[in-house]
Amino acid sequence: MQTFKGIKIVNGIAIGKIKVYKPAVYEINEDLVSDIAAEVQRYEAAIAKVQADQNALYEKEMKAGHKDTAGIFEAHAMMLDDEDLNDSCKEFISEGHTAEYAVREGFEAAAEMFRNMDDEYFKARSADVIDLKNSMLDVLFGADTANLQGTEPAILVAEDLAPSETVKLDKSLLLGLVTRMGSSNSHTAILARSMNWPTLIQCHDITDDCDGKFAILDAYNACIYVEPDQYLIDELTAKQAEDKAREAKLQLLKGQPSVTKDGRSVRLYANIGGPKDIQAVLDNDAEGVGLFRSEFVYLNSKEEPTEDEQFAAYKKVLEGLAPRLVIIRTCDIGADKTIDYMKLDKEENPALGFRAVRICLNRRDFFKKQLRALLRASAFGKLGIMFPMIISRWEVQECKEILEECRNELKAEGKAMGEIEIGIMIETPAAALCADELAQEVDFFSLGTNDLTQYTCAIDRQSANLERFSDTHHPAVLRLIRETIEAGHRHNTWVGICGELGADPTLTEDFLKWGVDELSVNPKSILPLRGNVRNVDLSKFKTESPAPKAEEPKPEPAKPKAEKPKGFFGRLFS
Ligand code: PEP
Ligand code: MG
Repeated sequence: MQTFKGIKIVNGIAIGKIKVYKPAVYEINEDLVSDIAAEVQRYEAAIAKVQADQNALYEKEMKAGHKDTAGIFEAHAMMLDDEDLNDSCKEFISEGHTAEYAVREGFEAAAEMFRNMDDEYFKARSADVIDLKNSMLDVLFGADTANLQGTEPAILVAEDLAPSETVKLDKSLLLGLVTRMGSSNSHTAILARSMNWPTLIQCHDITDDCDGKFAILDAYNACIYVEPDQYLIDELTAKQAEDKAREAKLQLLKGQPSVTKDGRSVRLYANIGGPKDIQAVLDNDAEGVGLFRSEFVYLNSKEEPTEDEQFAAYKKVLEGLAPRLVIIRTCDIGADKTIDYMKLDKEENPALGFRAVRICLNRRDFFKKQLRALLRASAFGKLGIMFPMIISRWEVQECKEILEECRNELKAEGKAMGEIEIGIMIETPAAALCADELAQEVDFFSLGTNDLTQYTCAIDRQSANLERFSDTHHPAVLRLIRETIEAGHRHNTWVGICGELGADPTLTEDFLKWGVDELSVNPKSILPLRGNVRNVDLSKFKTESPAPKAEEPKPEPAKPKAEKPKGFFGRLFS
């Protein structure tokens, strides 16, 4: 038996033969040609064909109800219309190169532009450009790509998979996915999550000679066993059957209350990045949105989004999810999320630098644009506004003053606005330790355990090398969480958790025992978490320590609406 390790993207067990997926490798003619008009014509015909294919994939995914996936192909089709891209390819042709050469060079240059961006999300978009390049070359070389997947159900092993390759796969033949490359932000990873295939990426060592061999992909342990022994086969077959039974049972939890056996309720909300996630919130029966990372509205735009563009995005989410509470976090850029148009200085230590609310308080006009958009959107749903990276009470007061200034301006302009809840992220040890003072300023806290862990333990959350030292259950972090909940409740401030720890099933009972009011998690984690909550019985702790009672939440918001960013390849990111 051989074991290959990777990084888990989607949990689960897949059992079956391996099929190694090998797309064609083309040898491109480097010689110059004389009939430039003919090459331009071939290039344009290929663009038209690939664009038609992308539109067909869009229709197919829409019909299947996969709006997110459909959006990728819609964006691809638009990308093929991009003037910069087409001009740069045609320039190669005008120099006498073949259409194939022009596609390779022009599309590679565009991919390189994305690859060089600081932000991981944008970096991952280079794969979309490469995907289109390969489709163009398939057309220009007249390749037959129909049978790359084989004809029987298999665990697919690939170097990497482009979105159009992934979506073309026959799902009935796909047991699981393993790629040698890939990133957790790639569209393949996004597609794998939305399709729920057991998936590993960065399984660097798996070799092509595994093709046809029997294997078990055990995403729980982030590995694939090739030619496993009978003991493993029996154990993991049983685990797979358990998973299937659990998945079926989870669907029954839709519409059920998130309440413990002894009657303690907790609100289960979703974390989202924009309007594209509305459907996932609804499909997974989330009771609201505990964290809308509004920085994605900025990251998805080539230029700073205008007040109206922001208003449109917020309104769309609030309207689409009304009457649920939607908590929108004000722009949390800086650190790992950088944006060129913000022209932020390079910093030695950006996680400790000029980021999030620090930028907003120093760039008042920038901040006011977002606050005005949020206030206008509040007329269309139930809005909570949350300020990130707070360390001091004066910061919250200043945010509220600016918000008030915006409210007065909009009132004078005759704009409608709704009631709003105000909250802050508790994601620094300073905020957690000063929670008693901060609670007096706000309606709610939301514990950002990702940053709280990074700052409490001095462990860079971006670093893959610190795995050994990192402890997501570090007692210092757990103590800060518990004490923050208690401090919030002393001041009638409700407390949620929106960091990754909120979805950790091994902590659900503790969080409930400590009195957490809300858990905000990836939409896919809502139903499993509801199942956990419904299995908890807090009555056994009642004599030990009185669980801080979840206070009734303070007021809530009114009504908003939304749209999408534009710009160079902008729709790709929508
Ligand atoms: C957090 O820090 O836990 C959090 C939810 O915010 P982000 O992951 O966006 O920094
Ligand atoms: Mg954070």
